[in-house]
Amino acid sequence: MRWSAMYTAMSLRTCSGLHPAPLRSSLRRPPQFASGAALRLFSSPPSLPDYGSTSVEVDSHRLSKPSKAGLSKAGLSKAGLSKPQAAKAAKFRRKDLDGKSLISDTLVDMDNDETFQDTLARLKRDGAKRMTLEEKKNRRRALDALGVQPFSAFVPERNAGKAVARKATQVFQLNIGLYCNQACGHCHVESSPRRKEMMDRATADRCLQILASSPEVTTLDITGGAPEMQAEFRHIVREARRLRPDLDIIVSTPDRCNLTVVHEPGQEDLIAFLKEHKVHVIASLPCYSAKNVNQQRGSGVFDRSVSALLALNEQGFGQPGSDLTLDLVYNPLGAFLPPPQEMLEDKYKEELLEEFGVVFNNLYTMTNMPVKRFADFLHRRGELQEYMELLVRNFNLDTTESLMCTNTVSVGWDGKIYDCDFNQQLGVAVGSDDAFSDDSKSVHNIEALKELFPEKIAFDNHCYGCTAGMGSS
Ligand code: SF4
Ligand code: SF4
Repeated sequence: MRWSAMYTAMSLRTCSGLHPAPLRSSLRRPPQFASGAALRLFSSPPSLPDYGSTSVEVDSHRLSKPSKAGLSKAGLSKAGLSKPQAAKAAKFRRKDLDGKSLISDTLVDMDNDETFQDTLARLKRDGAKRMTLEEKKNRRRALDALGVQPFSAFVPERNAGKAVARKATQVFQLNIGLYCNQACGHCHVESSPRRKEMMDRATADRCLQILASSPEVTTLDITGGAPEMQAEFRHIVREARRLRPDLDIIVSTPDRCNLTVVHEPGQEDLIAFLKEHKVHVIASLPCYSAKNVNQQRGSGVFDRSVSALLALNEQGFGQPGSDLTLDLVYNPLGAFLPPPQEMLEDKYKEELLEEFGVVFNNLYTMTNMPVKRFADFLHRRGELQEYMELLVRNFNLDTTESLMCTNTVSVGWDGKIYDCDFNQQLGVAVGSDDAFSDDSKSVHNIEALKELFPEKIAFDNHCYGCTAGMGSS
């Protein structure tokens, strides 16, 4: 159901309770587009971001009064939960789900979803490379129809001739495998329980050696798939912590830790492990409403996610004064930009605390990138052009300073090196614009990350997703 139904009615609300108008009607083409001279669109840019079809009714968006226990920016301590909040926490901490896998439900959902089945058949018939090239062509055609330049020419023109350049690598991101207990409709790495690609020990150890010889790295971002379900996850965390006690080790899926993994069989000690190694958890929760989350991520995901958040809270994650960080990520449930981050964070904190007794540290909002499953979804619905228009219209030069690719190196499960997670999924290796190139750089042929410094970033038209509104990376 999540695949074909998740975005069907664009009557979906944003999670903030703010109503996105239907994509087609909301994307009125500015007069400059009508003339075909797209660049003139930007001669008097709109105030940015305009949030596309997300109608941000700031004035009518009022938070209810905090409860007597108080609602601080950092949330409340467990001890500070009011009686009703504590009762909610007890109710929603579903210990009965511990050790119960979500995988059989995910497989049933996948089998019953026509769109998913159709994509699988195309993948089998055409192969990943051909499908990716087709996707790239579709984005190009959409921009041609709008009269918009390729991203690589667009940015320097908007930035007084200055191209975006690579800086020292601060974030070393390892995608250690594509296996996941979920199969979310928007997943840009196309993970599911059927994906078996996984990093092996030799590649994991090579990554650790490179980490040891790259002292400029401050953050190790371990992602997947569900990273916790990959064979080398615990080995990498243990060794990285031993090598670098100061390192910020993040565990995340492409849309951050999927939370439900906490209940999978064999993961009973996962939270204790994360705590022991002071892993920073960034978890995805695309809404505080069960209906929206289950639509996007699959049946039963919401209850499991809330229960997992409570289990993390119990161990100190997200609690004020604790050094165990629990952050959440919001991504829109449809083809619109996320609402303002700070406002949504307040709303999330209020809803999760009052309704479920959950506390957390920060909420980050992310734009859906027009790649892989989401690009396919837009193309099938004839909405790719409008989404690209939304992204281009919301181009925000300020985001170019902090693009993921400027300070991150992303490694695939097989050791290949990319500028970012998105390029990784599109098969565009670092220093290359040849999708799925075989002679690309890999952890097996470099010694330290500084060797990558001269390589140009491989920008392409999906990059408009990273520079729209408040950015996505
Ligand atoms: S978005 Fe995350 S949780 Fe969902 S299928 Fe992809 S990797 Fe798994
Ligand atoms: S998608 Fe493009 S802009 Fe975004 S991080 Fe990757 S290379 Fe940079």
